[in-house]
Amino acid sequence: MLDSTPKEIKKRSAGKINPAKTCQPVGAMYAALGIHNCLPHSHGSQGCCSFHRMHLTRHFRDPVQASTSSFTEGSSVFGGGANLKTAFKNVFAIYNPDIIAVHTTCLTETIGDDIPNIIGSAEIPEGKLVIHANTPSYQGSHITGFSGMVKGMVQYLSEATTETKKNQVNIIPGFVNPGDMREIKRLTKDMGINFIMFPDTTGVVDTPITGEYEMFPKGGTTLEQLKDTGNSKVTVALGAWASADAANQLERKCKVPALTLKTPIGVKATDEFLMALRGQFAAEIPYEIEEERGQLVDIMTDTHFHFHGKKVAIFGDPDVVTVLTEFVLSLGMIPVHVLTGHPGSAFEKEIKALLDEAGIEDANVKAEGDLFELHQWIKNQPVDLLIGTTYGKYIARAEDIPLVRVGFPVLDRSVHSYLPIVGYKGGMRLVEMISNALLDRQDRDAKDEDFELVM
Ligand code: SF4
Repeated sequence: MLDSTPKEIKKRSAGKINPAKTCQPVGAMYAALGIHNCLPHSHGSQGCCSFHRMHLTRHFRDPVQASTSSFTEGSSVFGGGANLKTAFKNVFAIYNPDIIAVHTTCLTETIGDDIPNIIGSAEIPEGKLVIHANTPSYQGSHITGFSGMVKGMVQYLSEATTETKKNQVNIIPGFVNPGDMREIKRLTKDMGINFIMFPDTTGVVDTPITGEYEMFPKGGTTLEQLKDTGNSKVTVALGAWASADAANQLERKCKVPALTLKTPIGVKATDEFLMALRGQFAAEIPYEIEEERGQLVDIMTDTHFHFHGKKVAIFGDPDVVTVLTEFVLSLGMIPVHVLTGHPGSAFEKEIKALLDEAGIEDANVKAEGDLFELHQWIKNQPVDLLIGTTYGKYIARAEDIPLVRVGFPVLDRSVHSYLPIVGYKGGMRLVEMISNALLDRQDRDAKDEDFELVM
């Protein structure tokens, strides 16, 4: 059995133990669900598709539909072109989506199936569409897959058809929950700005119960909207890792300027998002939003003593971890371990810059890390709080530290995907979650006489 309690951590040059990420197609499938009347299609074996659907279903607690090329030994050896073409025929005939969004799997990438060529030579029914993204899972993470599929939407669907750009903004929300997407849309609407959000999984993976089964729920960005993204005045990409590629592609293809911002979590990042919209559209920020900001700052001030000087470890997706680090710093906490499973040295640079600015020198920061390493760090340098996905619970349990569940996936709690962590309202929710986790632990550890004093 592996020992996770070394005093000196030996550097592993290869291999991952408990990755802090999941595979590319999960992200591609989630992005595709954000198109109205779209069926995500997994080009590979049934097992991959079942895993991706199961993972998303467990996080959102809503059924996630997708089809598969159902590879056999024969297709693995001779190529999956015939399977994919049969899939198009069957899926359009049986389920009747407007569009199929194909992503690949490790197997189909390894054997080298040429997806654009297969799509080009397939019989696609009149009026129906097929798009694709290559998602080899031995590279990147679910964030790479999400980014690739959103870029695919632009490559296949965006069109510049008007002479002058329309007074509307494209918003790419990044890999966030539908609760977050609703909040970003609410803030934009409250500023009176027209927008197209893509992908948009609201009304798809957070549907109300109606007693009727709907293969394709009401939500999602429509194909007309996706085409119209090429006519917008500007694209705001929220989260460089998940959203910037698609925004840059749209700038190249349709001359829509791209503006990459952080995911709007915490006061500073939300301010930046709203000020960017204000600057682009000369729109006023309504008093209701100003009031929410004031409330959040008030709450942060009132509860500052809960957080001040507390040590915290944060892990998860790079876009979310970066702003969470910024937010906990603004609460007076000390991030001592910050890790993402996604590769990319820019993550380390960005986090180190935030920590340098706050005067924190000896923190562990790593991209492409894993949870075994995070556990080693925590053993050598304990923390008061862990923030991350469900998979952090094993570390939290072993080290007896509270865990605040944020990010993807959260499999052992419900409701989280309906409620935002973005915007000022989301900031209030984060403060409540962190504060409750710290105080619950404090209450548990308090002696009886402490309680008597309080009462
Ligand atoms: S084989 Fe590759 S694509 Fe399939 S589930 Fe595993 S990592 Fe994901």
